[in-house]
Amino acid sequence: MKKIGLIGGMSWESTAEYYRIINEHIREILGELHSAEIILHSVDFYAIEKLQQENRWHEAGLLLADIAVKLERAGADFILICTNTMHKVVHQVEEMIGIPIIHIAEPTIRAIQERGLVQILLLGTRYTMVEDFYKGRYVGSGIGVQIPVGGGLETVNRIIFEELCLGIIREESRAEMLAIIEKANIEGAQGVILGCTELELLIHESDVALPIFKTAELHAKYAAKEALR
Ligand code: GLU
Repeated sequence: MKKIGLIGGMSWESTAEYYRIINEHIREILGELHSAEIILHSVDFYAIEKLQQENRWHEAGLLLADIAVKLERAGADFILICTNTMHKVVHQVEEMIGIPIIHIAEPTIRAIQERGLVQILLLGTRYTMVEDFYKGRYVGSGIGVQIPVGGGLETVNRIIFEELCLGIIREESRAEMLAIIEKANIEGAQGVILGCTELELLIHESDVALPIFKTAELHAKYAAKEALR
């Protein structure tokens, strides 16, 4: 079995899900007492979030690259960065290591394509929704991406950083998200990318009529399969 290197802690609320999902998936496939071989480096998210806010992405990239080098030295065969947003610096990290990084968007793109959908609502942090580093991968794969309009964008970003990353799950916030999704559906969205690894702590399949694509779950399951390939 290959060793999975995780760069986590952004936030740890969702990294804990990665740990659970990867192990559950390995057990589903192999049975008995099998579990995943994982090396996890979990960061202090306070420092990372400061760098994001201050637009110091290069420093954040150096920090993650340094961790990736350590994971490679520790024996990881491939790496996951357990956040959509920090894929803004994925190239900086890739340059420093000789092992592959599985990009978080890839398993989601495949899942959307398998369903034959071409117009999707993207929910995530402001960086992920507005900038091109993440959206561009979907668009480049022939998937049209919608983002929330008006105040919706700020609402989603606020719920992520002020609630979900702190482990706070509020019914009112779920309702706000569902209203945003409904509006996007009327405007043509055929599905929803939960493009922030904490969003799947708040929104579940049973809440939404549209198909939802959980980036953390898809990423984690893909990694479990890759570990056995
Ligand atoms: N976990 C989030 C994501 O998937 C947001 C936290 C961060 O800014 O890295 O984008």
